[in-house]
Amino acid sequence: MEQALYVYNTLTRRKEVFKPLNEGHVGMYVCGPTVYGDAHLGHARPAITFDIVFRYLMHIGYKVRYVRNITDVGHLEHDADEGEDKIAKKARLEQLEPMEVAQYYTNRYHDAMDALGCLRPSIEPHATGHIMEQIDLVDEILNNGFAYESNGSIYFDVESYNKKHKYGILSGRSLENVKDASRELAGVGEKRNQADFALWKAAQPEHIMRWKSPWSVGFPGWHCECTAMGRKYLGNHFDIHGGGMDLVFPHHECEIAQAVASQGDEMVKYWIHNNMITINGQKMGKSLGNFITLPEFFSGKHPQLEQAYSPMTIRFFILQAHYRSTVDFSNDALKAAEKGLERLMDAWKLLGTLQPVAGGTVKLQTVEEIRQHCYDAMYDDFNTPIVISNLFEACRLINSIADKKETIDADALEAMKQLFSVFVFEILGLKETSAGGENKEREEAYGKVVDMLLEQRMKAKQNKDWATSDQIRDQLAALGFEVKDTKDGYSWKLNK
Ligand code: ZN
Repeated sequence: MEQALYVYNTLTRRKEVFKPLNEGHVGMYVCGPTVYGDAHLGHARPAITFDIVFRYLMHIGYKVRYVRNITDVGHLEHDADEGEDKIAKKARLEQLEPMEVAQYYTNRYHDAMDALGCLRPSIEPHATGHIMEQIDLVDEILNNGFAYESNGSIYFDVESYNKKHKYGILSGRSLENVKDASRELAGVGEKRNQADFALWKAAQPEHIMRWKSPWSVGFPGWHCECTAMGRKYLGNHFDIHGGGMDLVFPHHECEIAQAVASQGDEMVKYWIHNNMITINGQKMGKSLGNFITLPEFFSGKHPQLEQAYSPMTIRFFILQAHYRSTVDFSNDALKAAEKGLERLMDAWKLLGTLQPVAGGTVKLQTVEEIRQHCYDAMYDDFNTPIVISNLFEACRLINSIADKKETIDADALEAMKQLFSVFVFEILGLKETSAGGENKEREEAYGKVVDMLLEQRMKAKQNKDWATSDQIRDQLAALGFEVKDTKDGYSWKLNK
């Protein structure tokens, strides 16, 4: 760890030298998904951004405890809403238990993130498993005089907090701004001030996910879980708290207020936020018809997609932009990323075929310079696009060696292989297999064969030929295919 790592801290609005609170150890908390629907690009970007941070911190020698929560408490669409929560609504529509909905989408989230090459966090706490910790947090804030009860709900008293501490330090909003911005929201009734936010909500009769508390049967406010679980697993003070920029206000601003109101000081040293993703220049939104889920990207099944895009293409595309820049998705941009990734992977394959030449024109020093540029970029706030452009420079050299325009000596060849295995695979987390192109076609062909077999199995079942039906399922299982019977037929996946 000789070179200094610079990270941009949203709180101080500048790049700072990263110094963890406990030498050699890093605690990192990242806000995870709300599990009532499939993950989309808005989930892919923070997952990949903090996967890079996680991988790089480990690469430079830190022990990292990476905590990412699962939001499975049913929250309302808006703070001002009454009644049914999002998970319960989905459960009612699909005739499932709310926990069944949460588990189903948690599993699908894991599948999508695994496909994207994101390492699993060290701890993945569920909000529903930490209701006691959240009640304790609310209790502390109440006891310290920064919250009040209203009809069984507890609200954070932003005005009394702002008299002692400063509300809005992360987002740069003043209390007056916040009041103005939330004026339009109806249902202020229970709150003393429009800017106040719920720490605990008394449940309406139709709210299924509910717990007992000293104040009412209800459920915790959304901001509580991250403060309570971050503190439980990383301590009163920890290094990094991350998430998408859309979480800066109100979520992270409220988390800071909750931490200070309960323990007297801020928990987090570095706040890191990734920028947002647009699709063809527009914000993603269900009403805009451009809300594309990750499984839809991977299968190409969405009217706005011209083809399927492999998870690695999506990952590579996201890494081609710095995490603090916006990224605009379009078919053209994704196809360009697919080509870029292929170029990188083709060079890696070529590299395995090159023979060293004594006194070759490409020397160790040239490769070491490229490697140092890659490190400089990563040490400078995880600048992956600069890393990629340096790797493309390495590709250019590899291609000209393969074309016999240049030669490479043994040391340089070995260093080149190291460069790829460290930066392409370990740090950027790219995988060789799902690079698209030929592999994708082969995978699609395999998929069609599995479908053919399962159609045969459906016919066997219709004919009550259970022996054949079971045989097909068991033989597929032996090959690693997990087959499930569903209402409309079957589903399958390959367990890798
Ligand atoms: Zn959070």
